Amino acid sequence: MKKISKVIDTSNPFFEQVDCLKIKKERYILGDLLSAKPGTRPSEQRGKKVSEQKLEAMIWGLSHDKPVVVRWQCLQLLDAHPDHRAVPDILGLLNDPVPRVRWNAIHALECDACKAGESLFTPSILSKIYFLAEQDKNKRVRLYAQRVIESGLED
Ligand SMILES: [Zn+2]
Repeated sequence: MKKISKVIDTSNPFFEQVDCLKIKKERYILGDLLSAKPGTRPSEQRGKKVSEQKLEAMIWGLSHDKPVVVRWQCLQLLDAHPDHRAVPDILGLLNDPVPRVRWNAIHALECDACKAGESLFTPSILSKIYFLAEQDKNKRVRLYAQRVIESGLED
């Protein structure tokens, strides 16, 4: 996979689709177009890999800063279509200034319901979640991180 720069890659049509996730009324159709199998229900394509071009566009969207909504939209897409190549960028968002982005980053790493049983968890990710459970400034993020740790201990 090529290195992803901060500027929009016009040779890849999915970059523009990711950018348009900022438009609320287009979000639903774009979520379908960017999914692994457009035209099928989310429940039928959970855990399926997206193409490399889509993956590159979604990873680019993780650093989208105007507006912030694109970041968590891309996290939700990567939650349903996990790929290890996105993990370093998702981990970076555990330090995002926006609580909702941190919440969705935790979810994209831990949730295995959307991934058909495939969570992206590793011991080093777990230690970062421990840190958020204790230190995050936002109560909702702390509580979610605590819940993730507790449910991890049950398995
Ligand atoms: Zn999920």
